[in-house]
Order: sequence, then structure tokens, then C-alpha cells
Amino acid sequence: MSNDVRNVIIIGGGPAGYTAALYTARANLAPLVIEGFNWGGQLMITSDVENYPGYPDGVMGPTMMQEFRQQAERFGAEYLTDDVTRVDVSERPFRVWVGDDEYRGESVIVATGASARQLGLESEVRLQGRGVSYCATCDASFFREKIVVVVGGGDSAMEEASFISRFASKVYLVHRREEFRASPIMVDRVRANEKIELVLSKTVEEVLGDQKVTGVRLRDTVTGELSELETDGLFVAIGHDPNTALFLGQLDHEPDSGYLVTAGKSTKTNVEGVFAAGDVQDHTYRQAVTAAGSGCMAALDAEHFLSAR
Ligand code: NAP
Repeated sequence: MSNDVRNVIIIGGGPAGYTAALYTARANLAPLVIEGFNWGGQLMITSDVENYPGYPDGVMGPTMMQEFRQQAERFGAEYLTDDVTRVDVSERPFRVWVGDDEYRGESVIVATGASARQLGLESEVRLQGRGVSYCATCDASFFREKIVVVVGGGDSAMEEASFISRFASKVYLVHRREEFRASPIMVDRVRANEKIELVLSKTVEEVLGDQKVTGVRLRDTVTGELSELETDGLFVAIGHDPNTALFLGQLDHEPDSGYLVTAGKSTKTNVEGVFAAGDVQDHTYRQAVTAAGSGCMAALDAEHFLSAR
């Protein structure tokens, strides 16, 4: 791989990164995509995707990402399947490192996405894909007429519990406090749903099951008392964290959450020539299709920036 100054370096290999790659490649900008060792992002832990337009029969998340990747490659996008370890956007050309290897770009598109928060339990990791899920939209239909536990007290947990109740026979919503962070209307909807039972002031201490989830062990946050709930599935809906650790000292971000801040309707960050696309700057929509749209915007913004120079 040449170590000349690239027109554009794209960091991240999810819908935003690959769409930015497609557009910049078709604009003859020969992008270098440092896609991450685990390229594909959150769609790699998704099974059927039924809400991406253009796939009337649905598509598997990993297949869709493979196809996004191939489409950009066809027009000359170059991939580096590794993780960026350091960036310096204090001056142009911007510098991006993968270990000791340095890459330089006149522009950078940050599309590193976000990751679902985990509870931090060994049993949770062991049973991922065996009943433990982080995406109701993706996996709820596997729990038809089954019992499901949803953990969380924000809008995501409310939305997921309501959605899962369309499939499951029973949904327990486990939250660590009595009060909810979620908006009142979402909580009201959950309270009115006969299939959903609230289990408050409890944390999940352990996910039970050998080959698949069979239950959860709960701890009462007030009394410390332990109890068990039988369940076929555990949906962890305690929020997402943007993958922004590499950029926090250099790019403007929301103080608490770490999401990158972009200007107005553009993908421009506070550093001219650095753009942010997809979930790394969006905690509201977080869909593959919105991330892809945002990747397209970043590519066009980068193209305008480069042609103006
Ligand atoms: P969130 O608002 O940050 O809520 C996370 C919830 O998970 C909180 O109730 C928190 O409890 C709980 N939690 C965090 N860590 C935990 C842990 N280790 N163990 C147990 N519980 C834990 O995240 P979100 O619900 O994903 O929402 C993120 C943003 O997206 C919000 O702005 C939300 O309004 C928005 N959103 C909107 C919609 C909608 O309007 N349709 C849908 C989804 C999301 P505590 O409350 O005790 O901290």
C-alpha cells in the first residue's frame, strides 16, 4: 500500500463508512478505508435485516455489509482491515496510525459507529446469540410465544419491550431504579401493555443457562436480596456508546455522551476537512439506512472541501 498523502481516509467499516467509500471512490478520490479488524459494525451481530430499502425479501446483516464493501471496492476503494490506534488532526495532512504505520490524508471521514452497552457479565458474553441480544428490532421475532427479559429504563428499553411484546408471550422489564429515564408517554405505553410486567429496583446479577438462556438471577438494589426469573431471552437495552475514544481530545463532542458534534445539517466537525458520519454522531436514528445516508453526505462534504482547495 502506498504511503502517499491520500485525498480521503475513511475510518470505520459500517454502513456510513462503506457508503462514504462508494461515493468518494466514484468521485475518483481513491479513498483508503481503515475499516477495523471487526469490519461491518453492529450489522455483523444482526441476523435478518428487513427494513433496508431495496431488499424485499430481507437480507442478513453480514451479507449486506459484505455487499456494501464490494460495491465500493468495485470503484477503487482500498481497504485496510485493521484498527486505527491514533489520530492527529491538528494540521493537514491529517495523520492516522495503525500501530507503527502512519497514513496521511487531506481529509478524514470518521465513521466508527457506536456499540451497545453491555452489562459486563461473563455469562452475558457466553450466551450472546444464544438468547442474549442487544437489538429487539433484529431478534424479537425469534422469541415468538416465549418469555423475555428486557433490561433498562430509558426510551430504548420501553420501545424494545413494547416491540418484543408483539411476539413474546410475556416480557419482564427489569430496571435498577423505581423511576424511569424514559419519556412518560413511552412508560405509560409499557404500563398499559398486559404482556409486560415491570420488575423494579433490580439488577441482573447473572444470566443462567448452559447452551442457551434459561433464566436470570436478579439482585434487589434496596435489600440486596437475590431472586431468579425464568426466561428464554435477555435483551440488554441500556444504551449505546459512540466509538469516539480516539477523537475526544481533538474533535468537539457532547460532554457526557461523547457523540461527535457536526455543524447544522452537514457532517462537518470543528476541524476543517474532518467529517463525521453515522452513529458516531447520531444517537437518535441509529439505523443502517440513516447511517448510509450520512456517509453519503460526508463523502459529498469531503468532495466539496477538496475541490475548493
Ligand atoms: P439511556 O436513555 O441512556 O437509558 C439507559 C438506561 O439503561 C437507563 O435507564 C439506565 O439506568 C440503564 N442502565 C445503564 N447502565 C446500566 C447497567 N449497567 N445496568 C442496568 N441498567 C443500566 O439510553 P437509551 O434508552 O438507549 O436512549 C438513548 C437516547 O435515545 C435517549 O436520548 C432516548 O430518548 C433516545 N431514544 C428515543 C427513542 C424514541 O423516542 N422512540 C427510542 C430509543 C431511544 P438509570 O436510569 O438508572 O441510569
